[in-house]
Amino acid sequence: MAERHSQSSRSTQLFGELSSDKIYCANCIHCKLFRSPVGSANQYGLRVRCSAGKWKKKLGEEKVYKYFTVIRRTLEECDAYVPMGEVETFLRELRKSLPIKDELFTPSATDPS
Ligand code: SF4
Repeated sequence: MAERHSQSSRSTQLFGELSSDKIYCANCIHCKLFRSPVGSANQYGLRVRCSAGKWKKKLGEEKVYKYFTVIRRTLEECDAYVPMGEVETFLRELRKSLPIKDELFTPSATDPS
């Protein structure tokens, strides 16, 4: 059984709009980025999924989110959380590179499939 992780015992510290009382899925090894077909031709958008199967719709199907919203995916606790690094540093860097809206991409001829 996976070790139970919770950050709620830490003292509350705010760094920018981020809270150290929460678990940020973006910093979890199970938060996976993938290309999802969108629009026409071979266009795709970037989406994230939980490879531990924790994100579900009401009827049980897997739920995925648009990549640009990944920093908003937070939980009070998660028994499958496996942090990838120091959360404040990781999220600060992620915010610099995260798009501000959903973007559509068209693969070029040189992209690997
Ligand atoms: S395992 Fe938990 S913390 Fe990790 S991505 Fe899934 S829901 Fe988020």
